[in-house]
Amino acid sequence: MIPLNKPFISGNENKYIAEAIRTRKLSGDGPLTKQATDKLLELHQPSTTKILLTTSCTDALEMCALLLDIKEGDEVIVPSYTFVSTALAFEMRGAKLVFADSKKDSPHIDPESVKQLITPRTKAIVPVHYAGIACDLMELGIFSLNNNIEIIEDNAQGITSKFHDLPLGTLGTLGTLSFHESKNINCGEGGALLINSPRFYNRAEVLREKGTNRSSFFRGEVNKYGWADLGSSYLPSDILAGFLLAQLESIDIVQKRRMQIFNQYRNELDFLIDKGIQLPVISKEKRGNGHIFYLVMESLEQRNAFHKHMEKCDVKCVFHYLSLHKSSYYINKYSGPELPNSDRYTDCLTRLPIYPDLSPQEVKHIIKSVKEFFGA
Ligand SMILES: *Cc1c(COP(=O)(O)O)cnc(C)c1O
Repeated sequence: MIPLNKPFISGNENKYIAEAIRTRKLSGDGPLTKQATDKLLELHQPSTTKILLTTSCTDALEMCALLLDIKEGDEVIVPSYTFVSTALAFEMRGAKLVFADSKKDSPHIDPESVKQLITPRTKAIVPVHYAGIACDLMELGIFSLNNNIEIIEDNAQGITSKFHDLPLGTLGTLGTLSFHESKNINCGEGGALLINSPRFYNRAEVLREKGTNRSSFFRGEVNKYGWADLGSSYLPSDILAGFLLAQLESIDIVQKRRMQIFNQYRNELDFLIDKGIQLPVISKEKRGNGHIFYLVMESLEQRNAFHKHMEKCDVKCVFHYLSLHKSSYYINKYSGPELPNSDRYTDCLTRLPIYPDLSPQEVKHIIKSVKEFFGA
């Protein structure tokens, strides 16, 4: 069976992990963290972002909620069609979640829906660059400027993706990345926080270091360190940073192969649009990274039949998110409007396998199997 995803391995992971062991620099913020962070900074030029490695994207989002002082009574607008973490970080601080719908032509947050949900209590909007393709950041940016609302980019999926030549994650006040095994570049579990506003630099370091000013101490800025603020242990060990460094050094190979597969799917399956099937929307302004290739079927029944057919062809295709406003955790608290597009993607979206180790023969087989289902 061809799986949906197979994590990439560069071959140098062991070398860097061994270095951590040899030098006995094992905890966080050691030399390997510095090297991995420098690589990330390079990838996010020309922005002057400060980047901190974290233990996950979920943790980076929790840091965002703390940095913005999100508290009870604040409203945070998130897409309903996303992973739990996007919403959870703000729910944990007592915010009122306000779920926005997806666009009609793609699973991304719909600025029209967002516009109707803005109130004087709206503190932040958290767009998700679904499939590693940018949201409508221009429209969201205008709401943000006009209403004094912060944009936090959940860019878990979009490393190296661009919006008008600018790296995703560097356009909001804060941005987050994920290095979970399921993402393009990974270290098993990991993430990063991109801080695009200098006013958060110092506090972010404190929050990440268990609420202490340890980072200032090591730079010689204070002569002892202690408890300074809220926080948690959000920094990964140098062993993980070493694994991540090996991955980051191979990022060009990974993204190139993923985009080849993505473009091949996009070109050869273009005919499906005439059959009422939605495919990823691509444009010059929104360059992606081949993280996901999805098809949106016309009904749940059609998607079930498609999954059955693909399984018979030894190809694993998998649905994605379930509308958060209808989750068992949230449904009884939800009092907002119907979100028909989010519900439609819940029922009708499926993903084709995409990962660097997928061979050209396998890609051909997958395309042939999809065509077969649609009688082409
Ligand atoms: C993967 C993912 C996350 C969570 O990332 P972790 O690093 O596993 O915490 C959050 N948001 C989105 C959109 C994701 O795809």
